[in-house]
Amino acid sequence: MKRIALYPGSFDPVTNGHIDILRQALALSDQVIVAIGVHPGKTPLFSFEERMELIHAAAGSAFKEADARRVEVIAFKGLVVQAALENGATSLIRGLRDGTDLDYEMQMAGMNGALQPDIRTVFLPASPTVRHITATLVRQIAKMGGDISAFVPEPVAEPLRQRTTSGK
Ligand code: ADP
Repeated sequence: MKRIALYPGSFDPVTNGHIDILRQALALSDQVIVAIGVHPGKTPLFSFEERMELIHAAAGSAFKEADARRVEVIAFKGLVVQAALENGATSLIRGLRDGTDLDYEMQMAGMNGALQPDIRTVFLPASPTVRHITATLVRQIAKMGGDISAFVPEPVAEPLRQRTTSGK
């Protein structure tokens, strides 16, 4: 049976922290579906299509071709367990940076497990080199003209600079 994992998040934009978790998830699964949550009323920095392109570009530069091909990107609205079921995934991937992540993620995993016991949450620890990275801070630093090249994959750096300096 093909093991499919769903990795949900905002990925606005994809960071080196996300890629670290994605690399670990690919080692555990045959296919990883990166599921971009689309929230009506929330305006992201990058559109869904742009975020999808950046994830594919980042995976293409970070992983071997055969591994990059095992990454799929979708959009989802509503319940993450529903998105997992609809896409044939049996596990949910979540990255843990610190105790704050753990407290929140334990609640989410508990609720999702109650809603859908067949779908298991898998926590993966952030590698020490990327555990400080959050997409929110990366966006803020970029908007203030700071150098974000240490925090995002190479294909993301220029689009992020352009987006945050062009006032869009
Ligand atoms: P962020 O929290 O950076 O805004 P998302 O909401 O897109 O990112 O998070 C999606 C998933 O990626 C979550 O499970 C989150 O814990 C994980 N994640 C984000 N950044 C990191 C990181 N630096 N290291 C490990 N996991 C991370």
